[in-house]
Amino acid sequence: MKILLAGGAGYIGSHTAVALLKAGYQVVVLDNFDNSSPEAVRRVEELTHKPVVLYEADAADKAAVLNIMKQEQPDCVIHFAGLKAVGESVKQPLRYYRNNIDTTLTLLECMELTGCRKIVFSSSATVYGEENPAPCNEEMPKGSCTNPYGWTKSMMEQILQDAAVADKNLGVVLLRYFNPIGAHESGRIGENPRGIPNNLMPYVTQVAVGKRERLTVFGGDYDTPDGTCLRDYIHVMDLAEGHVAAVEYGAGHNGVEIFNLGTGQPYSVLDIVNTFQQVNNISVAYEIGPRRAGDLPVVYADATKAKTVLGWQAKRSLADMCRDSWNWQKNNPEGY
Ligand code: NAD
Ligand code: UDP
Repeated sequence: MKILLAGGAGYIGSHTAVALLKAGYQVVVLDNFDNSSPEAVRRVEELTHKPVVLYEADAADKAAVLNIMKQEQPDCVIHFAGLKAVGESVKQPLRYYRNNIDTTLTLLECMELTGCRKIVFSSSATVYGEENPAPCNEEMPKGSCTNPYGWTKSMMEQILQDAAVADKNLGVVLLRYFNPIGAHESGRIGENPRGIPNNLMPYVTQVAVGKRERLTVFGGDYDTPDGTCLRDYIHVMDLAEGHVAAVEYGAGHNGVEIFNLGTGQPYSVLDIVNTFQQVNNISVAYEIGPRRAGDLPVVYADATKAKTVLGWQAKRSLADMCRDSWNWQKNNPEGY
Protein backbone atom coordinates (compact mmCIF):
# COMPACT_ATOMS: atom_id res chain seq x y z
CA MET A 1 0.00 0.00 0.00
CA LYS A 2 1.10 3.52 -0.78
CA ILE A 3 0.58 6.34 1.74
CA LEU A 4 0.77 10.05 0.91
CA LEU A 5 2.07 12.08 3.86
CA ALA A 6 1.01 15.71 3.47
CA GLY A 7 3.37 17.62 5.77
CA GLY A 8 5.48 14.47 5.99
CA ALA A 9 8.81 16.30 6.33
CA GLY A 10 7.79 17.67 9.73
CA TYR A 11 8.38 16.33 13.21
CA ILE A 12 5.58 13.79 13.46
CA GLY A 13 5.43 13.09 9.72
CA SER A 14 9.10 12.12 9.44
CA HIS A 15 8.84 9.70 12.38
CA THR A 16 5.64 8.26 10.95
CA ALA A 17 7.41 7.78 7.62
CA VAL A 18 10.02 5.64 9.39
CA ALA A 19 7.32 3.53 11.09
CA LEU A 20 5.35 3.08 7.85
CA LEU A 21 8.42 2.09 5.82
CA LYS A 22 9.40 -0.36 8.55
CA ALA A 23 5.91 -1.87 8.37
CA GLY A 24 6.30 -2.37 4.60
CA TYR A 25 4.31 0.59 3.24
CA GLN A 26 5.45 2.80 0.37
CA VAL A 27 5.72 6.43 1.36
CA VAL A 28 5.24 9.62 -0.67
CA VAL A 29 5.86 12.97 1.06
CA LEU A 30 4.33 16.29 0.01
CA ASP A 31 5.57 19.33 1.93
CA ASN A 32 6.18 23.02 1.30
CA PHE A 33 8.95 23.08 3.95
CA ASP A 34 7.27 25.98 5.71
CA ASN A 35 8.40 24.47 9.01
CA SER A 36 10.73 21.65 7.95
CA SER A 37 13.60 20.63 5.75
CA PRO A 38 14.05 18.09 2.96
CA GLU A 39 17.01 16.82 4.99
CA ALA A 40 14.54 15.15 7.36
CA VAL A 41 13.23 13.04 4.47
CA ARG A 42 16.75 12.21 3.37
CA ARG A 43 17.49 10.96 6.86
CA VAL A 44 14.32 8.86 6.85
CA GLU A 45 15.71 7.12 3.76
CA GLU A 46 19.10 6.75 5.44
CA LEU A 47 17.52 5.18 8.54
CA THR A 48 15.23 2.78 6.71
CA HIS A 49 17.33 2.07 3.59
CA LYS A 50 14.13 2.60 1.64
CA PRO A 51 13.24 5.29 -0.89
CA VAL A 52 10.74 8.07 -0.20
CA VAL A 53 9.22 9.98 -3.11
CA LEU A 54 9.35 13.66 -2.15
CA TYR A 55 7.36 16.54 -3.67
CA GLU A 56 7.86 20.16 -2.72
CA ALA A 57 4.33 21.52 -2.98
CA ASP A 58 1.69 23.42 -1.07
CA ALA A 59 -1.07 21.10 0.12
CA ALA A 60 -3.55 23.93 -0.53
CA ASP A 61 -2.53 24.17 -4.22
CA LYS A 62 -5.20 22.12 -5.93
CA ALA A 63 -3.49 21.81 -9.31
CA ALA A 64 -0.23 20.64 -7.72
CA VAL A 65 -1.90 18.20 -5.32
CA LEU A 66 -4.08 16.79 -8.08
CA ASN A 67 -1.05 16.17 -10.28
CA ILE A 68 0.77 14.41 -7.46
CA MET A 69 -2.23 12.27 -6.57
CA LYS A 70 -2.84 11.31 -10.21
CA GLN A 71 0.80 10.38 -10.56
CA GLU A 72 1.11 8.45 -7.29
CA GLN A 73 -2.40 6.99 -6.78
CA PRO A 74 -2.00 6.65 -3.00
CA ASP A 75 -4.29 4.29 -1.09
CA CYS A 76 -4.45 6.62 1.89
CA VAL A 77 -3.55 10.21 2.81
CA ILE A 78 -2.21 11.19 6.22
CA HIS A 79 -2.78 14.90 6.71
CA PHE A 80 -0.07 16.44 8.90
CA ALA A 81 0.25 19.65 6.86
CA GLY A 82 -0.63 22.50 9.13
CA LEU A 83 0.60 25.45 11.13
CA LYS A 84 0.72 24.58 14.82
CA ALA A 85 2.07 27.41 16.98
CA VAL A 86 -0.65 28.39 19.43
CA GLY A 87 0.67 31.90 20.23
CA GLU A 88 1.31 32.70 16.57
CA SER A 89 -2.25 31.63 15.74
CA VAL A 90 -3.58 34.27 18.15
CA LYS A 91 -1.55 36.96 16.33
CA GLN A 92 -2.18 35.66 12.80
CA PRO A 93 -5.58 33.95 12.92
CA LEU A 94 -6.38 34.41 9.23
CA ARG A 95 -3.12 32.79 8.14
CA TYR A 96 -3.92 29.81 10.39
CA TYR A 97 -7.50 29.44 9.19
CA ARG A 98 -6.44 29.87 5.56
CA ASN A 99 -3.60 27.35 5.65
CA ASN A 100 -5.08 24.68 7.88
CA ILE A 101 -8.56 24.66 6.43
CA ASP A 102 -7.52 25.14 2.79
CA THR A 103 -5.10 22.20 2.94
CA THR A 104 -7.88 20.00 4.33
CA LEU A 105 -10.40 21.03 1.67
CA THR A 106 -7.87 20.65 -1.14
CA LEU A 107 -6.73 17.21 -0.02
CA LEU A 108 -10.34 16.02 0.30
CA GLU A 109 -11.27 17.39 -3.14
CA CYS A 110 -8.25 15.82 -4.80
CA MET A 111 -8.93 12.52 -3.04
CA GLU A 112 -12.44 12.53 -4.47
CA LEU A 113 -11.18 13.34 -7.95
CA THR A 114 -8.62 10.54 -7.91
CA GLY A 115 -10.61 7.87 -6.06
CA CYS A 116 -8.52 7.81 -2.87
CA ARG A 117 -11.07 7.21 -0.09
CA LYS A 118 -8.99 6.95 3.10
CA ILE A 119 -7.65 9.76 5.22
CA VAL A 120 -5.97 9.87 8.62
CA PHE A 121 -5.99 13.31 10.21
CA SER A 122 -3.65 14.91 12.78
CA SER A 123 -6.01 16.33 15.33
CA SER A 124 -5.27 17.37 18.87
CA ALA A 125 -6.39 16.96 22.46
CA THR A 126 -7.04 20.70 22.32
CA VAL A 127 -10.48 19.99 20.77
CA TYR A 128 -11.71 18.67 24.14
CA GLY A 129 -11.53 22.26 25.37
CA GLU A 130 -11.85 23.30 28.96
CA GLU A 131 -15.29 21.77 29.51
CA ASN A 132 -14.14 18.14 29.59
CA PRO A 133 -12.36 16.92 32.72
CA ALA A 134 -9.34 14.62 32.32
CA PRO A 135 -9.07 11.84 31.39
CA CYS A 136 -10.65 12.79 28.06
CA ASN A 137 -12.39 10.07 26.09
CA GLU A 138 -13.62 10.06 22.50
CA GLU A 139 -17.30 9.97 23.52
CA MET A 140 -17.09 13.42 25.09
CA PRO A 141 -18.51 16.27 23.01
CA LYS A 142 -15.86 18.65 21.75
CA GLY A 143 -15.37 21.75 23.89
CA SER A 144 -14.44 25.40 23.34
CA CYS A 145 -10.89 25.99 22.18
CA THR A 146 -8.83 28.79 23.68
CA ASN A 147 -7.05 29.88 20.48
CA PRO A 148 -7.43 29.94 16.66
CA TYR A 149 -5.07 26.96 16.19
CA GLY A 150 -7.37 24.82 18.32
CA TRP A 151 -10.42 26.04 16.46
CA THR A 152 -8.85 25.08 13.11
CA LYS A 153 -8.49 21.52 14.43
CA SER A 154 -12.06 21.46 15.68
CA MET A 155 -13.35 22.86 12.37
CA MET A 156 -11.27 20.45 10.29
CA GLU A 157 -12.68 17.53 12.29
CA GLN A 158 -16.15 18.84 11.45
CA ILE A 159 -15.32 19.17 7.74
CA LEU A 160 -13.99 15.61 7.63
CA GLN A 161 -17.05 14.31 9.48
CA ASP A 162 -19.44 16.08 7.10
CA ALA A 163 -17.55 14.72 4.08
CA ALA A 164 -17.89 11.19 5.46
CA VAL A 165 -21.64 11.63 6.03
CA ALA A 166 -22.05 12.68 2.40
CA ASP A 167 -19.87 9.90 0.99
CA LYS A 168 -20.35 6.47 2.50
CA ASN A 169 -17.20 5.23 0.79
CA LEU A 170 -14.99 7.70 2.62
CA GLY A 171 -12.99 6.45 5.59
CA VAL A 172 -11.77 9.06 8.09
CA VAL A 173 -9.63 8.39 11.14
CA LEU A 174 -9.24 11.36 13.46
CA LEU A 175 -6.21 11.03 15.71
CA ARG A 176 -6.20 13.30 18.72
CA TYR A 177 -2.58 13.63 19.81
CA PHE A 178 -1.70 14.53 23.37
CA ASN A 179 1.86 15.86 23.92
CA PRO A 180 4.37 14.27 21.53
CA ILE A 181 8.01 14.55 22.63
CA GLY A 182 11.16 12.49 22.10
CA ALA A 183 12.87 11.55 18.86
CA HIS A 184 13.88 8.49 16.90
CA GLU A 185 16.31 6.49 19.02
CA SER A 186 19.06 6.96 16.40
CA GLY A 187 19.12 10.71 17.11
CA ARG A 188 19.05 11.34 13.34
CA ILE A 189 15.55 12.83 13.18
CA GLY A 190 13.74 14.92 15.77
CA GLU A 191 11.85 18.10 16.52
CA ASN A 192 13.37 21.17 14.90
CA PRO A 193 11.49 24.29 16.00
CA ARG A 194 12.28 27.62 14.33
CA GLY A 195 13.10 30.45 16.75
CA ILE A 196 12.21 30.34 20.42
CA PRO A 197 10.42 27.06 21.18
CA ASN A 198 6.83 27.29 22.37
CA ASN A 199 6.70 23.75 23.68
CA LEU A 200 8.20 22.44 26.87
CA MET A 201 10.59 19.71 25.71
CA PRO A 202 12.41 21.64 22.96
CA TYR A 203 12.84 24.48 25.46
CA VAL A 204 14.31 22.08 28.02
CA THR A 205 16.75 20.60 25.47
CA GLN A 206 17.82 24.07 24.31
CA VAL A 207 18.57 25.09 27.91
CA ALA A 208 20.53 21.85 28.39
CA VAL A 209 22.58 22.47 25.23
CA GLY A 210 23.29 26.07 26.28
CA LYS A 211 21.18 27.90 23.68
CA ARG A 212 18.82 29.36 26.30
CA GLU A 213 19.63 30.49 29.80
CA ARG A 214 16.79 28.97 31.78
CA LEU A 215 13.36 27.45 31.48
CA THR A 216 10.43 29.37 32.88
CA VAL A 217 7.94 26.96 34.38
CA PHE A 218 4.55 28.48 33.64
CA GLY A 219 2.86 28.48 37.02
CA GLY A 220 3.72 26.72 40.27
CA ASP A 221 0.43 27.28 42.05
CA TYR A 222 -1.94 24.92 40.24
CA ASP A 223 -4.03 22.47 42.19
CA THR A 224 -1.77 19.54 41.27
CA PRO A 225 0.64 17.48 43.41
CA ASP A 226 3.66 19.74 42.77
CA GLY A 227 1.77 22.86 41.68
CA THR A 228 2.74 22.59 37.98
CA CYS A 229 0.49 21.51 35.10
CA LEU A 230 -0.06 17.86 34.23
CA ARG A 231 0.10 16.62 30.64
CA ASP A 232 0.10 13.31 28.77
CA TYR A 233 3.53 13.15 27.11
CA ILE A 234 3.89 10.51 24.43
CA HIS A 235 7.03 9.32 22.66
CA VAL A 236 6.90 10.40 19.01
CA MET A 237 7.81 6.87 17.86
CA ASP A 238 4.85 5.46 19.81
CA LEU A 239 2.73 8.12 18.14
CA ALA A 240 4.20 7.15 14.75
CA GLU A 241 3.31 3.50 15.35
CA GLY A 242 -0.20 4.65 16.26
CA HIS A 243 -0.49 6.00 12.71
CA VAL A 244 0.46 2.63 11.25
CA ALA A 245 -2.32 1.05 13.33
CA ALA A 246 -4.74 3.77 12.19
CA VAL A 247 -3.88 3.24 8.52
CA GLU A 248 -4.42 -0.51 8.96
CA TYR A 249 -7.74 0.06 10.71
CA GLY A 250 -8.84 2.66 8.14
CA ALA A 251 -8.15 0.28 5.23
CA GLY A 252 -11.01 -1.91 6.43
CA HIS A 253 -13.50 0.71 7.63
CA ASN A 254 -15.55 3.56 6.21
CA GLY A 255 -17.14 6.40 8.15
CA VAL A 256 -15.43 8.32 10.94
CA GLU A 257 -13.56 6.92 13.89
CA ILE A 258 -11.80 9.01 16.54
CA PHE A 259 -8.84 7.83 18.61
CA ASN A 260 -6.85 9.47 21.36
CA LEU A 261 -3.13 8.88 21.00
CA GLY A 262 -1.73 9.33 24.47
CA THR A 263 -0.34 7.16 27.25
CA GLY A 264 -3.09 7.84 29.80
CA GLN A 265 -0.38 8.74 32.32
CA PRO A 266 -0.09 12.38 33.41
CA TYR A 267 3.25 13.95 34.32
CA SER A 268 3.97 17.43 35.66
CA VAL A 269 6.34 20.03 34.21
CA LEU A 270 8.73 19.34 37.11
CA ASP A 271 8.52 15.57 36.43
CA ILE A 272 9.82 16.33 32.94
CA VAL A 273 12.63 18.57 34.18
CA ASN A 274 13.67 16.14 36.93
CA THR A 275 13.54 13.03 34.74
CA PHE A 276 15.44 14.82 31.98
CA GLN A 277 18.20 15.84 34.41
CA GLN A 278 18.39 12.39 35.94
CA VAL A 279 18.50 10.19 32.83
CA ASN A 280 20.84 12.49 30.94
CA ASN A 281 22.98 13.50 33.89
CA ILE A 282 22.80 17.15 32.92
CA SER A 283 21.35 20.14 34.72
CA VAL A 284 18.52 22.31 33.43
CA ALA A 285 18.24 25.75 35.02
CA TYR A 286 14.67 26.79 35.67
CA GLU A 287 12.56 29.25 37.56
CA ILE A 288 8.90 29.21 38.45
CA GLY A 289 7.14 32.02 36.60
CA PRO A 290 3.56 33.18 36.14
CA ARG A 291 0.90 31.01 34.55
CA ARG A 292 0.61 31.08 30.74
CA ALA A 293 -2.78 32.29 29.49
CA GLY A 294 -4.95 29.48 28.16
CA ASP A 295 -3.12 26.60 29.91
CA LEU A 296 -5.38 24.02 31.53
CA PRO A 297 -4.11 22.54 34.83
CA VAL A 298 -4.62 18.88 33.90
CA VAL A 299 -4.91 17.26 30.45
CA TYR A 300 -4.51 13.55 29.81
CA ALA A 301 -6.06 10.84 27.71
CA ASP A 302 -8.27 7.93 28.34
CA ALA A 303 -6.21 5.68 26.04
CA THR A 304 -8.53 2.67 26.23
CA LYS A 305 -10.18 2.93 22.81
CA ALA A 306 -6.96 2.86 20.78
CA LYS A 307 -5.87 -0.18 22.77
CA THR A 308 -9.08 -2.15 22.34
CA VAL A 309 -9.96 -1.14 18.76
CA LEU A 310 -6.56 -0.49 17.15
CA GLY A 311 -4.57 -2.91 19.28
CA TRP A 312 -2.08 -0.09 19.86
CA GLN A 313 -0.70 1.34 23.06
CA ALA A 314 2.29 3.48 23.92
CA LYS A 315 5.27 1.40 25.08
CA ARG A 316 8.01 3.90 25.76
CA SER A 317 8.62 5.49 29.18
CA LEU A 318 9.16 9.09 30.21
CA ALA A 319 12.84 8.23 30.68
CA ASP A 320 12.96 7.02 27.03
CA MET A 321 11.34 10.26 25.90
CA CYS A 322 13.83 12.41 27.84
CA ARG A 323 16.84 10.37 26.71
CA ASP A 324 15.85 10.41 23.03
CA SER A 325 15.00 14.14 23.03
CA TRP A 326 18.46 14.88 24.41
CA ASN A 327 20.20 12.47 22.07
CA TRP A 328 18.65 14.31 19.09
CA GLN A 329 19.42 17.79 20.48
CA LYS A 330 23.03 17.16 21.46
CA ASN A 331 23.85 15.51 18.13
CA ASN A 332 22.06 18.22 16.13
CA PRO A 333 22.43 21.46 18.11
CA GLU A 334 21.46 23.52 15.07
CA GLY A 335 18.74 21.16 13.85
CA TYR A 336 18.93 19.85 10.28
P1 NAD B 1 5.56 20.29 11.92
O1 NAD B 1 5.42 21.76 11.74
O2 NAD B 1 6.88 19.74 12.26
O3 NAD B 1 5.00 19.53 10.63
C1 NAD B 1 3.99 20.06 9.82
C2 NAD B 1 4.50 19.99 8.39
O4 NAD B 1 3.51 20.51 7.51
C3 NAD B 1 5.77 20.83 8.17
O5 NAD B 1 6.72 20.03 7.51
C4 NAD B 1 5.31 21.98 7.32
O6 NAD B 1 6.31 22.44 6.45
C5 NAD B 1 4.16 21.33 6.57
N1 NAD B 1 3.15 22.25 6.04
C6 NAD B 1 2.47 23.23 6.70
N2 NAD B 1 1.63 23.84 5.86
C7 NAD B 1 1.76 23.22 4.65
C8 NAD B 1 1.16 23.40 3.38
N3 NAD B 1 0.24 24.35 3.17
N4 NAD B 1 1.54 22.59 2.37
C9 NAD B 1 2.47 21.62 2.56
N5 NAD B 1 3.07 21.42 3.74
C10 NAD B 1 2.72 22.21 4.77
O7 NAD B 1 4.49 19.86 13.03
P2 NAD B 1 4.25 18.45 13.72
O8 NAD B 1 4.53 18.61 15.16
O9 NAD B 1 4.90 17.38 12.95
O10 NAD B 1 2.66 18.35 13.57
C11 NAD B 1 2.04 17.62 12.52
C12 NAD B 1 0.56 17.80 12.64
O11 NAD B 1 0.13 17.34 13.92
C13 NAD B 1 0.10 19.26 12.55
O12 NAD B 1 -1.12 19.31 11.84
C14 NAD B 1 -0.11 19.64 14.00
O13 NAD B 1 -1.08 20.65 14.13
C15 NAD B 1 -0.62 18.33 14.58
N6 NAD B 1 -0.40 18.23 16.03
C16 NAD B 1 0.85 18.41 16.54
C17 NAD B 1 1.06 18.34 17.91
C18 NAD B 1 2.42 18.56 18.50
O14 NAD B 1 2.51 18.81 19.70
N7 NAD B 1 3.51 18.48 17.74
C19 NAD B 1 -0.02 18.06 18.77
C20 NAD B 1 -1.29 17.87 18.22
C21 NAD B 1 -1.46 17.96 16.83
N1 UDP C 1 5.53 24.87 29.77
C1 UDP C 1 6.36 25.55 30.64
N2 UDP C 1 7.35 26.31 30.12
C2 UDP C 1 7.59 26.43 28.78
C3 UDP C 1 6.74 25.70 27.90
C4 UDP C 1 5.72 24.96 28.44
O1 UDP C 1 6.18 25.48 31.85
O2 UDP C 1 8.51 27.15 28.36
C5 UDP C 1 4.45 24.03 30.33
C6 UDP C 1 3.06 24.47 29.91
O3 UDP C 1 2.54 25.42 30.83
C7 UDP C 1 2.29 23.15 29.94
C8 UDP C 1 3.35 22.11 29.61
O4 UDP C 1 4.61 22.73 29.83
O5 UDP C 1 1.84 22.90 31.24
C9 UDP C 1 3.28 21.64 28.16
O6 UDP C 1 3.27 22.78 27.33
P1 UDP C 1 3.41 22.66 25.76
O7 UDP C 1 3.36 24.06 25.20
O8 UDP C 1 4.59 21.82 25.41
O9 UDP C 1 2.11 21.84 25.31
P2 UDP C 1 0.54 22.12 25.56
O10 UDP C 1 0.10 21.11 26.56
O11 UDP C 1 0.38 23.52 25.98
O12 UDP C 1 -0.04 21.85 24.21
